[in-house]
Amino acid sequence: MRAPRALFAPAVVPALKSWSRSHLADHEVVRTFTAAVVRDCATTAELLADLGELDARRLYVPAGYASMHAYCTGAHHMSEDAAFKRIRVARTARQFPVIFDAVAEGRLNLSGVMLLAACLSAETVDEWIAAASHKPNSEIELLLAERFPRPDVATRVAAIAPPTGLLGVDADASGACQQAARPVGMTSTQQAPGPVDASPARVRVTPLAPGRFDLRTTLSQEAHEDLRCVQDLLGHSVPSGDVAEVIGRALKCYRRELEKRRFAATDRPRPGSRRHAGSSRHIPAAVQRAVWERDGGQCAFVSDSGHHCEARRHIDFDHVEPVARGGEATTANIRLLCSVHNQHAAELAYGKGFMDEKRSEAKRQAAEARAQKAAAVAARARERAAAELAAPGDVIPGLKILGYRGDDLRCAAKLCAAIPGATTEVRMHHVIKALGRASMSRLTHAPRSPV
Ligand SMILES: [Zn+2]
Repeated sequence: MRAPRALFAPAVVPALKSWSRSHLADHEVVRTFTAAVVRDCATTAELLADLGELDARRLYVPAGYASMHAYCTGAHHMSEDAAFKRIRVARTARQFPVIFDAVAEGRLNLSGVMLLAACLSAETVDEWIAAASHKPNSEIELLLAERFPRPDVATRVAAIAPPTGLLGVDADASGACQQAARPVGMTSTQQAPGPVDASPARVRVTPLAPGRFDLRTTLSQEAHEDLRCVQDLLGHSVPSGDVAEVIGRALKCYRRELEKRRFAATDRPRPGSRRHAGSSRHIPAAVQRAVWERDGGQCAFVSDSGHHCEARRHIDFDHVEPVARGGEATTANIRLLCSVHNQHAAELAYGKGFMDEKRSEAKRQAAEARAQKAAAVAARARERAAAELAAPGDVIPGLKILGYRGDDLRCAAKLCAAIPGATTEVRMHHVIKALGRASMSRLTHAPRSPV
């Protein structure tokens, strides 16, 4: 199905349109602005309804996009935030259609719906919309906090190393703390003795100038040690230990490795292997390399209107003419497709109903496999528990000979279960010591016959 492009054609602005309002009286400015706000609310609700329908029908797929977000930003040039917000609100409003009315009438704005989205249900949606109508977001947040109180945020004091210390990057724009670049970790123990922020930080990449980017992220201890190690190994060729240079070299190396692993991309191909020659689905490494280079590591789907999908994630090889219909693993018959367009191509080849059945079957099998795995894990846990319970048996007869009975034996079993890997001798020593003086005293003054 073609994307209804006519619906989304940009508005044509009249050539003589004036954007000046200087000729209007004050009350007219207020009136026209108010009318524009009313129109904007109604238009927003219309946009959400159209967007939601387009999203539900997945019309972005034949239009050459791998997601609704990519379609909104790519085909309609929305900002990433605006696209995200409208998609989220449209999906929520399709679930609770009264939201369309609330937006159209200006009772709720998009940010307000975003705040409410997580707590709405069929029973509560009317109540929430009434409570949040015409309220600023700060008041909606208060309403939510009253209804769903959360615990206080724990007080945390974290030591964070000065920006120039850990990575040898001169981040202080004033230059007061500028130091020569040096290998990482040289001063970390002195400058960050306490725990640093361990929360997963989002990577932020900011363009600084043509070809230059500011990259900020948080490394795990292990990654930090790897970085130090690579700096040391590159000591001869990068004596300054410059982090940007080291990371650049490491990424280039890892990218080659991944491309080789995923798509057999290499400058020095080995003679063809016949290991999989019998499989009709096997794609020879030489074909993989040729397709990878030809498609540029990008989804090769092109829509009827000529849009080339830009997805580079979740891409895989796809037979243009399916294997089931005799399609061969030749360079001409193989292409790279993202997972979304792979499914789209399969629906075009076999029909949506057939593919829905296949997907349901795959889901069922996956659920079955998960259940089997969970059952196996539970069985192993039961076996371990049984073994731990059985383990004290090797000290119980000895304890009985020593005269222990009843509660003492039960206590001994628990004590042994707490040290499952210990030898019998260690268990016995541990148990007798733990049972305490009272029992020993009882043994001393009331010797019993061996059982
Ligand atoms: Zn694609």
